Amino acid sequence: MTDEIVNDTNNIDRAVGGTVFERFFTGRSEANYVAPKTLFMTADYVNLTVFETDDGLVMVDCGTLETAPKVYEEIRKHTDLPLHTVIYTHGHLDHAFGLQPWLDAGEKPRIIAHENVVQRFKSYMRTGPLNSHINKVQFGIEAGLKWPETSGEFFWPDVTYRNQLSLRVGGERFELFHAKGETDDATWVWAAERSIVCTGDLWEEILPNCGNPQKVQRYPEGWADALEAIASVDAKLLLPGHGQPIEGNEQIRACCHNVAEALRAIVRQALDGLNSGKNHEEIMQSIQIPEQLKQFFYIDPLYDRPEFIARNVIRQYGGWWDGFSSHLLPAPMREQSAVITELAGGTEAMIEKAYQLADSNLPLACHLAEWAALAEPDNDKAQQCVIDIFNKRAEGEISLMGRGIFSHAVRQAEKALAAK
Ligand SMILES: [Zn+2]
Repeated sequence: MTDEIVNDTNNIDRAVGGTVFERFFTGRSEANYVAPKTLFMTADYVNLTVFETDDGLVMVDCGTLETAPKVYEEIRKHTDLPLHTVIYTHGHLDHAFGLQPWLDAGEKPRIIAHENVVQRFKSYMRTGPLNSHINKVQFGIEAGLKWPETSGEFFWPDVTYRNQLSLRVGGERFELFHAKGETDDATWVWAAERSIVCTGDLWEEILPNCGNPQKVQRYPEGWADALEAIASVDAKLLLPGHGQPIEGNEQIRACCHNVAEALRAIVRQALDGLNSGKNHEEIMQSIQIPEQLKQFFYIDPLYDRPEFIARNVIRQYGGWWDGFSSHLLPAPMREQSAVITELAGGTEAMIEKAYQLADSNLPLACHLAEWAALAEPDNDKAQQCVIDIFNKRAEGEISLMGRGIFSHAVRQAEKALAAK
């Protein structure tokens, strides 16, 4: 066991921009001590922390199925202590599925998670194909992602809790706090004697992934509450679920407060819109990250967008009807597209106008391209128009969620052309 400490965590001056993967690929693919008896590493794109205690290892998250052997090897380079406790910060695939090599080696850890992790795993067992599809669109993984669907593919928690849980391992205190943020099953961990906080995905070094257009309800206010609670403990080192660690109590507090404020501002704007009787479209037009917060790289909307977060607020407090009466029980898009295209003077005219608008009003051009292809799916030029216009849209889109869906439109059109 070595206590060599890599203390290059004070990286708070990173540039605004880049991509989410530049943030998530931290360059920490090898396990290193970031504090005494505290190992930290990034398994491809997700982080995990291992605390060495007198009774064995306390592991916060265990990575993915795929990266598990590498994680095991890395941790075992530094310590042969038994794996005593595993804490899931939530039940997502990148955080709670990397235990197999440990079990194969004969370890018998106690697994602790929020009680909703159990519900999440059960829901995964019912929605495998849906989740595969969502991730196919989101990340452009055409082959699909193998989703765990049978009970034996999950590492089920042995101990669950509801609000807060105090643990003692090796004489050391670990406080677990529940939060609702990206998920409804989140836990953040306060290692009080070390002044270290493990946030899971409550800190991601980007604007919180709190509005994913394809996924279940997320909780911007719960997320802000959790960040403020994290800021209130006297942490000297923040070890996140994604992105780089943050060192220093003042930095940690400032970062958490700023992200919380960004979320609260979005919630305020969405609720003000709902309360003043605006329709969803009008609300979307008023959603802004406050000007003074845009300077912070960790509020960049590289994964999710403020508009998508606002949609989640609307879903949480209101209904799905967007305020346009014709959208309540709408005519099929294909029929709408056919009539609009006919009135426009035909598919050729629609395609021409889409290309004309591509530079000046790309969102509008996307509607025209989609209408043309829906009106006349067998028209090669219409499908090519979708490819060109949505490629341009995807290239210019800052959020991974947005880019994923625009690129999906391109792939669908490419498939339609190839099928002929
Ligand atoms: Zn994650």
